[in-house]
Amino acid sequence: MLAAHRGARAPSGLTLFSPHASLGPMALSAAELKRYFSQVYGHPAAGVVRAPGRVNLIGEHTDYNDGFVLPIAIERQTLAAYAPRADRTIRLASRQQRRAEASFYLDGPIRRARPKWANYPMGVAAGLIAHGAELAGRDILFDSDVPIGGGLSSSASLEVAAALAMLTGTGSRVDDYQLALICQKAEHDFVGAPCGIMDQAIAVMGRAGRAMLLDCRDGSARQIPFDDPHLVILVADTKVKHDLTDGDYAARRAQCHAATDKLDLKTLRYADEATVLAGADKLTEKELMRARHVVGEIERTVRAVDALVAGDHAEFGRLMYASHASLRDDYQVSCPELDRIVELARPLRDVYGARMTGGGFGGCAIILVRADQADRIGRAVTEGFAAAFGHPCVVFATRAASGAGVVC
Ligand code: ADP
Ligand code: MG
Repeated sequence: MLAAHRGARAPSGLTLFSPHASLGPMALSAAELKRYFSQVYGHPAAGVVRAPGRVNLIGEHTDYNDGFVLPIAIERQTLAAYAPRADRTIRLASRQQRRAEASFYLDGPIRRARPKWANYPMGVAAGLIAHGAELAGRDILFDSDVPIGGGLSSSASLEVAAALAMLTGTGSRVDDYQLALICQKAEHDFVGAPCGIMDQAIAVMGRAGRAMLLDCRDGSARQIPFDDPHLVILVADTKVKHDLTDGDYAARRAQCHAATDKLDLKTLRYADEATVLAGADKLTEKELMRARHVVGEIERTVRAVDALVAGDHAEFGRLMYASHASLRDDYQVSCPELDRIVELARPLRDVYGARMTGGGFGGCAIILVRADQADRIGRAVTEGFAAAFGHPCVVFATRAASGAGVVC
């Protein structure tokens, strides 16, 4: 069900560290977006909905192996202002795509089209209709402060915001997990990105002050308290995206599936390290490395939840470092920029742990720190990064925010 989470924005009040780097156009408030909507479409908006970006605390490259992931929704989000139309057309505009507006007809076959970004909401519309939702004509305007293409899942926040902008007020309701599946399918079918379910699930089902342990085998979720006021997550954006990412991601998935077949398993979820090592002679070296990461990471994620529940942040941090090492050495999806952030953070006082987050090859790292020391730590990491790479990384602080909902 689409719950209306009110007062959804909960800025952490912490500083944005990097004085040099821009995070792109700053997002508008809901009221500003409504005014901008009137300028773009020539009539007032009826409402504004939102959906957050995310970071994954631990459990990386496990979602497509039926494993566990532990994301939080972040205090960065996509807003969508919308208004009904008299006809059966959906019009789409985005502040992040100023010269690329789009429209499509609800009763026609909805197919992949240009501009590329419009395929995310179009795919969502197609999925909602196939699911039986009764959509009506709408004008929609998006705005986002989730860095686009930065590994914080601007794409899922766009999909989920689009879904809410099309559903709110229509009387059609879709269960949370079903909605996440529809958004995931939109990304598969309309964009060609074979993403797992984590990004869409946390964008829909995230809760303020909670990390979500999602079992990707059956979609069940457990909300884990992550609301210690003394802790904050620093997100450090490398601002790099190394080439060949799509091919490498697909290759990792293929290697996992090959290992699964050779070990005669349904998925790697059904194995532990002993199972993998016992079958090691059937696997290529790469398949062994990939499988070892996945089974180890699933186990680490379960242990990380125990550590959180016990309030053992030192243990949680150790598991973050172990996750990073495994992603770097066995899964081979890190890069020098991500490794550097982790190594810069590790010796600093009041840092519990750090790791890359998301698919890898660039994007973001996260650092779990004491909240009252976040400024100092963020600055040290940014400066160390700039010394190594000639440009600073962008660091911002976040706590666990709420999932998608109606703003006004
Ligand atoms: P990530 O999800 O890590 O940010 P992706 O490559 O999966 O990166 O998704 C980025 C793409 O999503 C963009 O290239 C664009 O097509 C689309 N997108 C995301 N946010 C917006 C937005 N606010 N407006 C328009 N398109 C967006
Ligand atoms: Mg994405």
